[in-house]
Amino acid sequence: MEAYKVQQHKYDVIVVGAGGAGLRATFGLAEKGLKAACITKVFPTRSHTVAAQGGISAALGNMGEDDWRFHFYDTIKGSDWLGDQDAIEYMCREAIPAIIELEHYGVPFSRTEEGKIYQRPFGGMTTHYGKGTAQRTCAAADRTGHAILHTLYQQALAHDATFFIEYFAIDLIFDEEGVCRGVLALDMNEGTLHVFRGHAVVMATGGYGRAYFSATSAHTCTGDGGGMVLRAGLPLQDMEFVQFHPTGIYGAGCLITEGVRGEGGFLTNSNGERFMERYAPNAKDLASRDVVSRAMTIEIREGRGVGPNKDHIHLNLMHLGSEVIHERLPGIAESARIFAGVDVTKEPIPVLPTVHYNMGGIPTNYHGEVVTKRDDNPDSIVPGLFAIGEAACVSVHGANRLGSNSLLDLVVFGRAVSHRCAELIKPDTPHKDLAPTALDKALGRFDALRHADGGTPTAQIRASMQTTMQSDAAVFRTGETLKEGVAKISDVYDSFKDVKVSDRSMVWNSDLIETLELSNLLAQAVATMHSAEQRPESRGAHAREDFPDRDDHEWQKHTLVWVDEKGKSSFDFRPVHMYTLTDDVEVVPPKKRVY
Ligand SMILES: Cc1cc2nc3c(=O)[nH]c(=O)nc-3n(C[C@H](O)[C@H](O)[C@H](O)COP(=O)(O)OP(=O)(O)OC[C@H]3O[C@@H](n4cnc5c(N)ncnc54)[C@H](O)[C@@H]3O)c2cc1C
Repeated sequence: MEAYKVQQHKYDVIVVGAGGAGLRATFGLAEKGLKAACITKVFPTRSHTVAAQGGISAALGNMGEDDWRFHFYDTIKGSDWLGDQDAIEYMCREAIPAIIELEHYGVPFSRTEEGKIYQRPFGGMTTHYGKGTAQRTCAAADRTGHAILHTLYQQALAHDATFFIEYFAIDLIFDEEGVCRGVLALDMNEGTLHVFRGHAVVMATGGYGRAYFSATSAHTCTGDGGGMVLRAGLPLQDMEFVQFHPTGIYGAGCLITEGVRGEGGFLTNSNGERFMERYAPNAKDLASRDVVSRAMTIEIREGRGVGPNKDHIHLNLMHLGSEVIHERLPGIAESARIFAGVDVTKEPIPVLPTVHYNMGGIPTNYHGEVVTKRDDNPDSIVPGLFAIGEAACVSVHGANRLGSNSLLDLVVFGRAVSHRCAELIKPDTPHKDLAPTALDKALGRFDALRHADGGTPTAQIRASMQTTMQSDAAVFRTGETLKEGVAKISDVYDSFKDVKVSDRSMVWNSDLIETLELSNLLAQAVATMHSAEQRPESRGAHAREDFPDRDDHEWQKHTLVWVDEKGKSSFDFRPVHMYTLTDDVEVVPPKKRVY
């Protein structure tokens, strides 16, 4: 192995990732007087959060009656009773102060006539426990993520947090007692290695949408945090639940926000029929995403798709008028023009369900502390390790996330982690020396990948993974397709032994970086396919044609999955938290989920 020089940096807390979750945590930590460093592989304001369009939920009641308890109920129902009700209570209650804070930090929200934050309806969001329609999603036109991310970055800079930009985190570093002590990273500008020591490491690395061929997520969404956690011998949770957004632009995959339907847009099939009325008589086009994606898939399958190949659906917003479109949905009009060649004031947008969000991830409690099941304790904490945002599974989204609840999850749990760390860590506490061998495993793996000289290019293995996931872990699943998927994805995983890295330079855009990302994606592709195969029921985004019903008796539980170096998976389960933190709300028992 090559001898690498590794520079050491010491901070109170290390945050990996500068999306909405990472930035909210970084700035909260700095605000509390902790020395915080944020490591990010892309410039902070290029994180995927920047692309979030529709908005962020909170029961402010600015545009009609609302209550955080209604939000609590909707989120549980949306999760198809797989969400942890203590965490959901925490998120929905804290949503209100967290959004007011964002407003005070400077997020330029759209406004009502009276100058309050503008709120639009979103799928699955109701009043009075399913009876009315709530206007709960706070929006800055259709560029809400952009507005939030820029504001949070400015706040982090103002509070003296330190950024290491274009540093790629490779692996977590643990001591002999299993306490997380830091992270090994590569400076992609200089091509140098660094170890960042922290009393806490916060994984805020986002989702792994790029395990699929067609996804709304950025090319940087490669689930690096989940990959690192699996390599540390820890499990991921609920990986079978992958959200397909109903309205990705046909062919291009980029997103058309649910806010379009919130503003009155609707879907039609080749007969010009508003078919959602048949599938969800009350909520119609604003049913939950899993419900709408399945309905669209059925319409196409039954021959009522549009276009020459009858393989997609139309999204209509012509009737909204150019004034509303210009004011509320300007970004959408632009995306539709560029990616579909459509003038939305005159023609419908061609759309198709597209991979959008990972409900599964690194299991945590509502403080953001990573948990695992150990010695029969299903909530056993992994000391020194935290996870937030799409990389994490708290679980507030359960089997299906409601639109606008992810931006909320980022800020609420980013904030929660900074509170928790301030309780646990005294600023400037000295760091214990690491054993001389502490970095050996991480460096050894890095060096082996860097010099991998097999016969299969990285891009070829990635393409096989993406097409396998796209066809076999899709909107609808059957025992047969999943069995085939498990065999195929295992073959793809094995083919990685033969990977060829043609450009070994330790800098930006090299094949080496893409190979490190692929190794992370592959482990999560395996986790997803294998977890889906072992769950014989339909719940939220996991729709089995051979098991069309939800089975609460056997399967109202979180899947924990471990994936070892050979790509073999093993499973255990954690109970869903069917309790609340206070008496202000009551547990919502499982019932049939209709919209
Ligand atoms: C197109 C689109 C629109 C959306 N719209 C909405 C919406 O309107 N409302 C809503 O609630 N949700 C929306 N979502 C979902 C939501 O935006 C995401 O779930 C959320 O932004 C994820 O934020 P994050 O902070 O967890 O991660 P990200 O924003 O993805 O950031 C990940 C960060 O981790 C860093 N990173 C990753 N790996 C490494 C590594 N190895 N080393 C160093 N750094 C690393 C990256 O540089 C980046 O800074 C949307 C998602 C998409 C894709």
